[in-house]
Amino acid sequence: MEKILCGVDLGGTKLSAGLVYPDGRILGKSVVYDHVALDEEGIVNYITLIIKQLISSNGLNETDLEGIGVGFPGHVRYRDGYTITTSNLKGFKSYPLRDTLAGNFRIPVRLDNDANAQAFCELKFGAGKGYDDLIFLTVSSGIGAGIVLNRKIYRGMTGTAGEFGHTIVDPDSDFICTCGNRGCLMGCACGLTLPARFRKKIEDGMQTSLPLPGDFDYSRVDGQLILQGLEAGDPVSMEIVRDCADYIGIGIYNIFQVFNPPLIILGGGLMNLGDLYFNRILEKFHELARDMIYDPIAIVRSEAGADAGLIGAAALLLE
Ligand SMILES: [Zn+2]
Repeated sequence: MEKILCGVDLGGTKLSAGLVYPDGRILGKSVVYDHVALDEEGIVNYITLIIKQLISSNGLNETDLEGIGVGFPGHVRYRDGYTITTSNLKGFKSYPLRDTLAGNFRIPVRLDNDANAQAFCELKFGAGKGYDDLIFLTVSSGIGAGIVLNRKIYRGMTGTAGEFGHTIVDPDSDFICTCGNRGCLMGCACGLTLPARFRKKIEDGMQTSLPLPGDFDYSRVDGQLILQGLEAGDPVSMEIVRDCADYIGIGIYNIFQVFNPPLIILGGGLMNLGDLYFNRILEKFHELARDMIYDPIAIVRSEAGADAGLIGAAALLLE
Protein backbone atom coordinates (compact mmCIF):
# COMPACT_ATOMS: atom_id res chain seq x y z
CA MET A 1 0.00 0.00 0.00
CA GLU A 2 1.25 3.48 -0.86
CA LYS A 3 1.84 5.55 2.21
CA ILE A 4 -0.51 8.30 3.34
CA LEU A 5 0.68 11.93 3.16
CA CYS A 6 0.20 14.44 5.93
CA GLY A 7 -0.19 18.14 5.13
CA VAL A 8 -0.27 21.17 7.42
CA ASP A 9 -1.42 24.56 6.14
CA LEU A 10 -0.26 27.04 8.77
CA GLY A 11 -2.14 30.25 8.06
CA GLY A 12 -2.48 33.56 9.83
CA THR A 13 -6.13 32.91 10.68
CA LYS A 14 -6.63 29.22 9.98
CA LEU A 15 -4.49 26.19 10.74
CA SER A 16 -5.54 23.05 8.92
CA ALA A 17 -3.91 19.66 9.04
CA GLY A 18 -4.96 16.56 7.20
CA LEU A 19 -4.16 13.09 5.99
CA VAL A 20 -4.13 12.87 2.22
CA TYR A 21 -4.06 9.89 -0.15
CA PRO A 22 -1.24 9.95 -2.72
CA ASP A 23 -3.84 10.86 -5.38
CA GLY A 24 -4.77 14.05 -3.53
CA ARG A 25 -8.02 12.93 -1.90
CA ILE A 26 -8.42 13.84 1.77
CA LEU A 27 -8.73 10.99 4.24
CA GLY A 28 -9.33 13.18 7.29
CA LYS A 29 -8.65 16.73 8.44
CA SER A 30 -8.83 19.14 11.36
CA VAL A 31 -9.22 22.89 11.14
CA VAL A 32 -8.57 25.26 14.07
CA TYR A 33 -8.41 29.02 14.51
CA ASP A 34 -7.16 29.34 18.10
CA HIS A 35 -3.48 28.76 17.25
CA VAL A 36 -3.01 32.47 16.51
CA ALA A 37 -2.57 33.35 20.20
CA LEU A 38 0.26 30.82 20.65
CA ASP A 39 4.00 31.33 20.26
CA GLU A 40 6.15 29.16 17.96
CA GLU A 41 6.65 26.32 20.45
CA GLY A 42 2.96 26.35 21.31
CA ILE A 43 2.05 26.10 17.63
CA VAL A 44 4.49 23.22 17.05
CA ASN A 45 2.99 21.34 20.01
CA TYR A 46 -0.53 22.07 18.77
CA ILE A 47 0.30 20.77 15.27
CA THR A 48 1.87 17.67 16.83
CA LEU A 49 -1.25 16.99 18.90
CA ILE A 50 -3.58 17.46 15.92
CA ILE A 51 -1.56 15.12 13.70
CA LYS A 52 -1.31 12.42 16.38
CA GLN A 53 -5.08 12.63 16.89
CA LEU A 54 -5.69 12.36 13.14
CA ILE A 55 -3.43 9.31 12.94
CA SER A 56 -5.17 7.49 15.77
CA SER A 57 -8.73 8.50 14.87
CA ASN A 58 -8.16 7.05 11.39
CA GLY A 59 -6.80 3.78 12.80
CA LEU A 60 -3.28 4.37 11.47
CA ASN A 61 0.25 4.29 12.85
CA GLU A 62 2.86 6.98 12.35
CA THR A 63 4.77 4.58 10.09
CA ASP A 64 1.79 4.46 7.70
CA LEU A 65 2.68 8.05 6.78
CA GLU A 66 5.21 9.06 4.15
CA GLY A 67 5.96 12.21 6.14
CA ILE A 68 4.60 15.63 7.03
CA GLY A 69 4.60 18.63 4.68
CA VAL A 70 4.16 22.10 6.13
CA GLY A 71 3.12 25.18 4.12
CA PHE A 72 4.24 28.39 5.81
CA PRO A 73 2.82 31.88 5.05
CA GLY A 74 6.13 33.67 4.72
CA HIS A 75 9.79 33.39 3.83
CA VAL A 76 11.50 30.08 4.42
CA ARG A 77 15.18 29.16 4.40
CA TYR A 78 14.45 25.95 2.55
CA ARG A 79 17.62 23.91 2.92
CA ASP A 80 17.90 24.52 6.67
CA GLY A 81 14.17 24.20 7.35
CA TYR A 82 14.02 27.57 9.06
CA THR A 83 11.29 30.17 8.81
CA ILE A 84 12.76 33.62 8.11
CA THR A 85 9.83 35.95 8.65
CA THR A 86 6.07 36.24 8.28
CA SER A 87 3.63 39.09 8.65
CA ASN A 88 0.76 36.69 9.38
CA LEU A 89 1.82 35.15 12.69
CA LYS A 90 3.62 36.30 15.81
CA GLY A 91 7.28 35.28 16.00
CA PHE A 92 8.75 32.74 13.59
CA LYS A 93 11.79 34.94 13.01
CA SER A 94 14.63 32.56 12.12
CA TYR A 95 12.87 29.62 13.73
CA PRO A 96 13.86 25.96 13.09
CA LEU A 97 10.28 24.89 12.40
CA ARG A 98 11.08 21.80 10.33
CA ASP A 99 13.41 20.11 12.80
CA THR A 100 11.47 21.16 15.90
CA LEU A 101 8.36 19.50 14.50
CA ALA A 102 10.37 16.51 13.25
CA GLY A 103 11.66 16.02 16.81
CA ASN A 104 8.13 14.94 17.80
CA PHE A 105 7.86 12.28 15.08
CA ARG A 106 9.86 9.47 13.50
CA ILE A 107 8.96 10.45 9.93
CA PRO A 108 10.44 13.17 7.68
CA VAL A 109 9.10 16.72 7.72
CA ARG A 110 9.29 19.16 4.79
CA LEU A 111 8.79 22.88 5.14
CA ASP A 112 8.13 25.32 2.32
CA ASN A 113 6.39 28.56 1.50
CA ASP A 114 2.63 28.04 1.10
CA ALA A 115 2.50 29.38 -2.48
CA ASN A 116 5.24 26.94 -3.51
CA ALA A 117 3.22 24.13 -1.96
CA GLN A 118 0.09 25.20 -3.84
CA ALA A 119 1.97 25.51 -7.12
CA PHE A 120 3.18 21.94 -6.73
CA CYS A 121 -0.34 20.85 -5.80
CA GLU A 122 -1.57 22.29 -9.11
CA LEU A 123 1.11 20.29 -10.94
CA LYS A 124 0.22 17.01 -9.23
CA PHE A 125 -3.54 17.27 -8.85
CA GLY A 126 -4.88 20.46 -10.40
CA ALA A 127 -4.84 22.54 -13.57
CA GLY A 128 -1.14 21.77 -14.07
CA LYS A 129 -1.50 18.01 -14.56
CA GLY A 130 0.46 16.97 -17.64
CA TYR A 131 2.61 20.12 -17.71
CA ASP A 132 6.34 20.30 -16.95
CA ASP A 133 6.45 24.05 -16.26
CA LEU A 134 3.93 26.39 -14.69
CA ILE A 135 3.65 29.53 -12.62
CA PHE A 136 1.04 29.75 -9.89
CA LEU A 137 0.02 33.20 -8.68
CA THR A 138 -2.20 33.56 -5.64
CA VAL A 139 -4.08 36.82 -5.10
CA SER A 140 -5.76 37.16 -1.72
CA SER A 141 -4.95 39.38 1.26
CA GLY A 142 -1.38 39.17 -0.05
CA ILE A 143 0.12 38.06 -3.34
CA GLY A 144 2.49 35.13 -3.66
CA ALA A 145 3.61 32.76 -6.35
CA GLY A 146 5.23 29.42 -6.94
CA ILE A 147 7.46 28.56 -9.87
CA VAL A 148 7.51 24.99 -11.16
CA LEU A 149 10.21 24.25 -13.73
CA ASN A 150 10.80 20.76 -15.08
CA ARG A 151 8.28 19.38 -12.57
CA LYS A 152 10.29 20.76 -9.63
CA ILE A 153 9.72 23.82 -7.47
CA TYR A 154 12.27 26.52 -8.31
CA ARG A 155 13.29 28.05 -4.97
CA GLY A 156 16.32 30.19 -5.75
CA MET A 157 19.35 30.55 -3.51
CA THR A 158 17.64 30.91 -0.14
CA GLY A 159 14.17 29.59 -0.84
CA THR A 160 12.39 32.87 -1.46
CA ALA A 161 12.09 32.76 -5.28
CA GLY A 162 8.66 33.56 -6.65
CA GLU A 163 7.93 36.62 -4.54
CA PHE A 164 6.16 38.30 -7.44
CA GLY A 165 4.08 40.22 -4.94
CA HIS A 166 7.12 42.42 -4.31
CA THR A 167 8.04 43.06 -7.93
CA ILE A 168 7.45 46.74 -8.64
CA VAL A 169 4.80 47.51 -11.22
CA ASP A 170 4.15 51.21 -10.51
CA PRO A 171 6.88 53.28 -8.79
CA ASP A 172 4.59 56.33 -8.76
CA SER A 173 1.74 54.45 -7.09
CA ASP A 174 -0.17 55.99 -4.17
CA PHE A 175 0.05 52.66 -2.43
CA ILE A 176 2.87 51.47 -0.17
CA CYS A 177 3.38 47.73 0.23
CA THR A 178 3.76 45.95 3.58
CA CYS A 179 7.48 45.62 2.68
CA GLY A 180 7.77 49.42 2.67
CA ASN A 181 8.30 49.87 -1.07
CA ARG A 182 6.02 51.93 -3.26
CA GLY A 183 4.22 50.26 -6.13
CA CYS A 184 4.80 46.55 -5.47
CA LEU A 185 2.30 44.32 -7.28
CA MET A 186 1.03 43.34 -3.84
CA GLY A 187 0.83 46.95 -2.69
CA CYS A 188 -1.20 47.77 -5.82
CA ALA A 189 -3.52 44.82 -6.16
CA CYS A 190 -3.91 42.57 -3.12
CA GLY A 191 -6.91 42.40 -0.82
CA LEU A 192 -5.20 44.56 1.81
CA THR A 193 -5.21 47.53 -0.59
CA LEU A 194 -8.98 47.50 -1.05
CA PRO A 195 -9.75 49.80 1.94
CA ALA A 196 -7.23 52.45 0.81
CA ARG A 197 -8.43 52.23 -2.80
CA PHE A 198 -12.05 52.61 -1.76
CA ARG A 199 -11.32 55.59 0.51
CA LYS A 200 -9.29 57.29 -2.21
CA LYS A 201 -12.08 56.96 -4.80
CA ILE A 202 -14.56 58.50 -2.36
CA GLU A 203 -12.11 61.30 -1.46
CA ASP A 204 -11.60 61.93 -5.18
CA GLY A 205 -15.33 62.58 -5.41
CA MET A 206 -16.74 59.30 -6.71
CA GLN A 207 -20.14 58.23 -5.40
CA THR A 208 -20.75 54.67 -4.29
CA SER A 209 -24.19 53.15 -4.77
CA LEU A 210 -23.58 50.79 -1.85
CA PRO A 211 -25.75 51.67 1.16
CA LEU A 212 -22.90 52.53 3.54
CA PRO A 213 -23.47 54.49 6.76
CA GLY A 214 -22.12 58.06 6.94
CA ASP A 215 -19.47 57.08 9.51
CA PHE A 216 -18.47 53.97 7.54
CA ASP A 217 -15.08 52.60 8.56
CA TYR A 218 -13.23 52.04 5.28
CA SER A 219 -10.88 49.53 6.88
CA ARG A 220 -13.84 47.13 6.63
CA VAL A 221 -13.73 47.11 2.83
CA ASP A 222 -12.83 43.61 1.69
CA GLY A 223 -13.27 41.34 -1.32
CA GLN A 224 -16.74 40.41 -0.12
CA LEU A 225 -17.94 44.02 -0.06
CA ILE A 226 -16.40 44.72 -3.46
CA LEU A 227 -18.15 41.62 -4.83
CA GLN A 228 -21.48 42.94 -3.47
CA GLY A 229 -20.67 46.25 -5.14
CA LEU A 230 -19.97 44.51 -8.46
CA GLU A 231 -23.26 42.66 -8.29
CA ALA A 232 -25.08 45.92 -7.52
CA GLY A 233 -23.32 47.79 -10.36
CA ASP A 234 -21.54 50.14 -7.92
CA PRO A 235 -19.19 52.34 -10.00
CA VAL A 236 -16.57 52.58 -7.21
CA SER A 237 -16.36 48.80 -6.82
CA MET A 238 -16.24 48.31 -10.58
CA GLU A 239 -13.40 50.76 -10.99
CA ILE A 240 -11.43 49.20 -8.14
CA VAL A 241 -11.83 45.76 -9.71
CA ARG A 242 -10.63 47.10 -13.07
CA ASP A 243 -7.65 48.89 -11.47
CA CYS A 244 -6.60 45.79 -9.51
CA ALA A 245 -7.12 43.50 -12.52
CA ASP A 246 -4.94 45.76 -14.67
CA TYR A 247 -2.07 45.41 -12.20
CA ILE A 248 -2.43 41.63 -12.11
CA GLY A 249 -2.44 41.71 -15.93
CA ILE A 250 0.84 43.65 -15.83
CA GLY A 251 2.18 41.15 -13.28
CA ILE A 252 1.45 38.11 -15.40
CA TYR A 253 2.76 39.88 -18.49
CA ASN A 254 6.08 40.28 -16.62
CA ILE A 255 5.95 36.61 -15.61
CA PHE A 256 5.32 35.69 -19.25
CA GLN A 257 8.33 37.68 -20.43
CA VAL A 258 10.64 36.18 -17.78
CA PHE A 259 9.61 32.54 -18.00
CA ASN A 260 7.71 32.06 -21.27
CA PRO A 261 5.64 29.42 -19.42
CA PRO A 262 2.96 27.33 -21.14
CA LEU A 263 0.65 27.77 -18.15
CA ILE A 264 -0.12 30.45 -15.57
CA ILE A 265 -2.64 29.51 -12.87
CA LEU A 266 -4.37 32.20 -10.82
CA GLY A 267 -5.67 31.31 -7.38
CA GLY A 268 -6.53 32.96 -4.08
CA GLY A 269 -9.60 34.59 -2.59
CA LEU A 270 -9.80 37.58 -4.94
CA MET A 271 -10.45 35.24 -7.87
CA ASN A 272 -13.96 35.01 -6.38
CA LEU A 273 -14.52 38.46 -7.90
CA GLY A 274 -15.53 36.49 -10.95
CA ASP A 275 -15.49 36.88 -14.71
CA LEU A 276 -15.32 40.68 -14.89
CA TYR A 277 -12.09 40.60 -12.87
CA PHE A 278 -10.57 37.57 -14.61
CA ASN A 279 -11.44 38.73 -18.12
CA ARG A 280 -10.00 42.17 -17.45
CA ILE A 281 -6.73 40.50 -16.31
CA LEU A 282 -6.60 38.56 -19.59
CA GLU A 283 -7.42 41.69 -21.60
CA LYS A 284 -4.59 43.65 -19.98
CA PHE A 285 -2.18 40.77 -20.50
CA HIS A 286 -3.01 40.46 -24.21
CA GLU A 287 -2.92 44.23 -24.66
CA LEU A 288 0.70 44.17 -23.43
CA ALA A 289 1.82 40.87 -24.97
CA ARG A 290 0.32 41.81 -28.38
CA ASP A 291 2.12 39.78 -31.08
CA MET A 292 4.86 38.48 -28.78
CA ILE A 293 3.06 35.21 -28.02
CA TYR A 294 4.43 32.61 -30.42
CA ASP A 295 2.94 29.48 -28.86
CA PRO A 296 -0.31 29.07 -26.99
CA ILE A 297 -0.18 30.09 -23.34
CA ALA A 298 -2.95 28.97 -21.01
CA ILE A 299 -3.97 31.39 -18.26
CA VAL A 300 -6.53 29.67 -16.08
CA ARG A 301 -8.14 29.90 -12.68
CA SER A 302 -7.26 27.33 -10.03
CA GLU A 303 -9.98 24.81 -9.43
CA ALA A 304 -8.51 23.72 -6.11
CA GLY A 305 -10.98 24.51 -3.36
CA ALA A 306 -10.64 25.57 0.25
CA ASP A 307 -8.29 22.67 1.00
CA ALA A 308 -5.68 23.66 -1.61
CA GLY A 309 -3.20 24.77 1.07
CA LEU A 310 -3.49 21.54 2.99
CA ILE A 311 -3.27 19.26 -0.06
CA GLY A 312 -0.41 21.38 -1.39
CA ALA A 313 1.56 20.96 1.82
CA ALA A 314 1.02 17.19 1.64
CA ALA A 315 2.07 17.23 -2.04
CA LEU A 316 5.50 18.55 -1.00
CA LEU A 317 6.28 14.96 -0.01
CA LEU A 318 5.86 13.86 -3.64
CA GLU A 319 8.43 16.24 -5.08
ZN1 LIG B 1 6.41 44.81 -1.43
